[in-house]
Amino acid sequence: MHYRTRAVILKSKDYRDADKLMTVFSEKEGKFRAIARGVKKPRSSMRASLQPFCHSQLYLNRGRDLDLITQTRLLSFYGNIREDLTGTLQVVYLLELLDKALVDRVPMFHLYRDVLNVLEALEQMGYNPLFIRYAELSVLTNSGYKPVMNQCVHCHKEDGLVSVFDLPAGGLVCRNCRKEAGSGFEMSGEALAILRMMLNSPLQALPRVKATPASLEQLELFLERYLEYHLESKFKMKDTMRKLKSLLSGLY
Ligand SMILES: [Zn+2]
Repeated sequence: MHYRTRAVILKSKDYRDADKLMTVFSEKEGKFRAIARGVKKPRSSMRASLQPFCHSQLYLNRGRDLDLITQTRLLSFYGNIREDLTGTLQVVYLLELLDKALVDRVPMFHLYRDVLNVLEALEQMGYNPLFIRYAELSVLTNSGYKPVMNQCVHCHKEDGLVSVFDLPAGGLVCRNCRKEAGSGFEMSGEALAILRMMLNSPLQALPRVKATPASLEQLELFLERYLEYHLESKFKMKDTMRKLKSLLSGLY
């Protein structure tokens, strides 16, 4: 049976002969793996549209085990992002995050739309760490872990909230429930305000947000911990970026 779907290419890996095993995040069927036959041949017409940083239309045949990609059409190549090292690393991290967070063949329409918007924003406006944070929040929200910010995650009262986020419970706590949040993550007022704003605003509003480096760092760490807690896996790219950063700081 033939079908087609648009998809963001997450990763590719060598497979038999000239074939590659692709992992994609598709619009219609969520994440899945499929074989691209002959794509390693220099003249394969599919080469250009099956790399990471591509959004492509895929034409497929259902297979018994893995589906076969028979034809492709490039829709967008986010090439500008690759001009910038930090932006490149952050997008590689985002693709890895999606690969880990998504469940096979479960469609995620809202997340798919958000990811495309984030890639488009990075491409058009350049690297902004808040774009990546926005994508992380969308992964969490669409996986059922939307941070509870307007009431205590334990007693549901709206007043007496403190700036402590209970990672396992998934939300802020109030003064009375502070002791319940054993592994609580303390946040500054500014970081909390940005987090609230990101949960309630479109992506287009983010470039206007003024954030101190300290708040940006705190938000990054907070989302890393929260994702890690719920996805139960360490992100390779985060470690790589840390090593690169310390390497670079040693050079200058
Ligand atoms: Zn409470």
